Amino acid sequence: MDYSQFFSAALNRLHDERRYRVFADLERIAGRFPHAIWHSPKGQRNVVIWCSNDYLGMGQHPKVVGAMVETATRVGTGAGGTRNIAGTHHPLVQLEAELADLHGKEASLLFTSGYVSNQTGIATIAKLIPNCLILSDALNHNSMIEGIRQGGCERKVFRHSDLAHLEELLREAGPDRPKLIACESLYSMDGDVAPLEHICDLAERYGAMTYVDEVHAVGMYGPRGGGIAERDGVMHRIDVLEGTLAKAFGCLGGYIAAKAEIIDAVRSYAPGFIFTTALPPAICSAATAAIRHLKTSSWERERHQERAARLKAILNAAGLPVMSSDTHIVPLFVGDPEKCKRATDILLEEHGIYIQPINYPTVPKGTERLRITPSPYHDDGLMDGLAEALLQVWERLGLPLRKRSMAAE
Ligand SMILES: *Cc1c(COP(=O)(O)O)cnc(C)c1O
Repeated sequence: MDYSQFFSAALNRLHDERRYRVFADLERIAGRFPHAIWHSPKGQRNVVIWCSNDYLGMGQHPKVVGAMVETATRVGTGAGGTRNIAGTHHPLVQLEAELADLHGKEASLLFTSGYVSNQTGIATIAKLIPNCLILSDALNHNSMIEGIRQGGCERKVFRHSDLAHLEELLREAGPDRPKLIACESLYSMDGDVAPLEHICDLAERYGAMTYVDEVHAVGMYGPRGGGIAERDGVMHRIDVLEGTLAKAFGCLGGYIAAKAEIIDAVRSYAPGFIFTTALPPAICSAATAAIRHLKTSSWERERHQERAARLKAILNAAGLPVMSSDTHIVPLFVGDPEKCKRATDILLEEHGIYIQPINYPTVPKGTERLRITPSPYHDDGLMDGLAEALLQVWERLGLPLRKRSMAAE
């Protein structure tokens, strides 16, 4: 039997559909965010990163790097086991306390990634609620979808952020059926925000529990970086908040925060928590340093919003098709997978600008885009250079420009 044929056939399908992905080999330069070295096939090149989810550059913050180095030097590298065996260490316990405080909850529980926290967290919560019905937003992240699937209970999908549809499904389910509403607070491909307050109203009216993924909002929204729920004053009304340490906090790991008995039950039943080695102490200390810093420093959040607004304004003024976004995400519409890939290749090779193409299945076919994430450290010069490079690429690929708006100029 020739087993390799199965794999080459699978790869050929991706090539045929123009979905085969290539990773850029990058080396960031600490202290010079967003600059990096690209190890290209033709040798090393300096590039500027425009698509990192280390949204605030915290992965290079001296306090965060310092905490990681100090802890690794003091206590060593790995955790040494699962939490049950030998992996519960002091920096991890401190981090969980920090996260519970960040979200105003009684407790929190750490997982090895945000993906795992959704997958095993939702599945476990769903299994512990008899006859649970999950109401899931149509644009939920794959990690939530997998968690829901593994939970094995009935699931209904409501149209994206559509409150009337959600209410219809809640009403249909009846008051006696246990219901869990699962959504994100900030959808990172379009940059739109969920109507959390109204979702909480519905949850309370129809007796549903709520689970909200704040992965793209923690650290960046709310007076202490607690996320959109903190900003909107509804943190206390959401049963389970889920977040990551890998995006705005610049490290690695995921978590849920909730009432003590929910956390204790997930801790006791979730296979994706029980059977895997705990996060290393140095990562936990670094994450704690990032969270503590962002609890009191608003400079990063304010500058981040200001930078995103400026980038939207100059791209709009140049006639580039910026998709509407209420947040720090700046999506630029392309609408064709091949041109999307080609645009990013030209940007990288000829302009030293790194932006990943966002193609199907991450977004629906026909809505392919460039997803730009300016950080507090992308200055005016870098932005003007980006706009200029994009205009050249747009012209070369025959992509349409909008009529230049006088107001924006
Ligand atoms: C990135 C992401 C996750 C996964 O978080 P990781 O910590 O990267 O595993 C979960 N949910 C959403 C919406 C995400 O975008």
